[in-house]
Amino acid sequence: MNIIILGPPGAGKGTQAQHLVETRNMVQLSTGDMLRAARTSGTEMGKIVAGVMDRGELVTDEIVIGLIREQLEKGSEGGFIFDGFPRTLAQADALNALLEENNIALDAVISLEVDDEVLVQRVVNRAKEAVAAGKEARADDNEESMRTRLMEYYKKTSPLIGYYYAKGNLSGIDGLQSIEAVQSSLAAVLDR
Ligand code: ADP
Repeated sequence: MNIIILGPPGAGKGTQAQHLVETRNMVQLSTGDMLRAARTSGTEMGKIVAGVMDRGELVTDEIVIGLIREQLEKGSEGGFIFDGFPRTLAQADALNALLEENNIALDAVISLEVDDEVLVQRVVNRAKEAVAAGKEARADDNEESMRTRLMEYYKKTSPLIGYYYAKGNLSGIDGLQSIEAVQSSLAAVLDR
C-alpha cells in the first residue's frame, strides 16, 4: 500500500508515518528528514537548502523531486508513505509521473486536519521540550519560521487537498484527536 500524508506543519504527519513504519513494514519517505540529513552531512545540497529551511520557506521542486526519485527506485515491500511530499502542484505532477514509471499505485491520500493556532503552539512546544531534554531544537521550530511555514502551506500546499479530492483518493482525518485515536482513524482508512 502506498499513501501520502498531507497536512500543515505540526499536524503530526511524522508521528503517524513512524507508527505505520513500525506496524506495517512501510517505508517512510520524509523530504524534511532527507533534507535535514543532507545538512548534517554537509553535502553541497545541504549547504544550499539550510537557510531556506531555517526561514521556513520551501526548497526547490527540483531538489526534493530528485530525492524522492532516488528512494523510489529502491522499492519497498510494505509500500511507501510520502510524508511532507508533495508540497506543490508541480511536485504532485512529478510524483504521478514517477509512480507511473515505477509501476507504483497510489492507494490513499490522508489529510490531517488541525486548527492553525494549535499548530503554532505545538511547534513552539516541540522546541521547548527539545531544549528541556537537553537536545537542540530544530532551527525552524520557532514562532517566526512557523508562521512562514504556515503561509507557504496555505499558498503552495493546501491546493493539493482539492487536487487529490478531485482525483478521488482523499480522506480527511481529525488531527486534533489523541495520537492513538488518529492512528485508529488512519488504520480504518487503510483497511477499508
Ligand atoms: P514540517 O514540520 O514543517 O512538516 P518537514 O520536516 O516536513 O517539516 O520540512 C521541514 C522543511 O524542509 C520545510 O519547511 C521546507 O523548507 C523543507 N521541505 C521539506 N519537504 C519539502 C518539499 N517537499 N518541498 C519543498 N521544501 C520541503
